[in-house]
Amino acid sequence: MTFTSPDHPTPDLRDLGLRTDRPLLIVDVDEVLGLFMEGFARYLATHGFEMRFDRFALFQNIYRPGEDRHIDIETGQAHFQTFFRDAVEDMPVAEGGPQALARLSRRADIVILTNAPGQALEGRRRWLKTHGMDYPLLVNSGLKGPVAAGLAAQADGPCVFIDDMIPNLDSVAEHGPEISRFQTVADIRLRPMAPSRPDLHPRVDGWDALETAILAALEPKAR
Ligand SMILES: [Mg+2]
Repeated sequence: MTFTSPDHPTPDLRDLGLRTDRPLLIVDVDEVLGLFMEGFARYLATHGFEMRFDRFALFQNIYRPGEDRHIDIETGQAHFQTFFRDAVEDMPVAEGGPQALARLSRRADIVILTNAPGQALEGRRRWLKTHGMDYPLLVNSGLKGPVAAGLAAQADGPCVFIDDMIPNLDSVAEHGPEISRFQTVADIRLRPMAPSRPDLHPRVDGWDALETAILAALEPKAR
């Protein structure tokens, strides 16, 4: 497990146990491999709050039962931090994700690039291992473009980047335009609300379709 940010030098692929002579697949965790909002909602329920899937937002979707104003942002943030400390391992897995990654690992090296608070690190690593996704883990803060571009530059072959968040996809487009990008949103309740820019970042929801899209993008380009 390695920390990254736009201000850090990008780690060496070989130090992560990755090869430089293979295609590279860079994959996010929350709302890509795991149902973050569902996991956070379950955690909040144990503290007497409810998550309403009203919009593509986090803290503005947390309510006390029966109230029509969301809780204040600071309270939401405090629960977000304790969720990552205490309950990040209880997050449900996105259906088909681990199986798709296992098959894709025959075609590309895989690295997990997650933005998560520091207290989540051990839990997140265990969660990945428990669910058969024991790939090298990079814990990033900030936009992902610089790190993704730095990793892709070391790999001999196509590179594919998967995330749910448009700012990260935009950042990768800016810093590593040669990287193939796909947006995916794991939770079916969030899919209709998630902002998309399909002209820039193809949107592919569900791991069956996503695996097919990734495989096509990993094909060496005809010269
Ligand atoms: Mg995410």
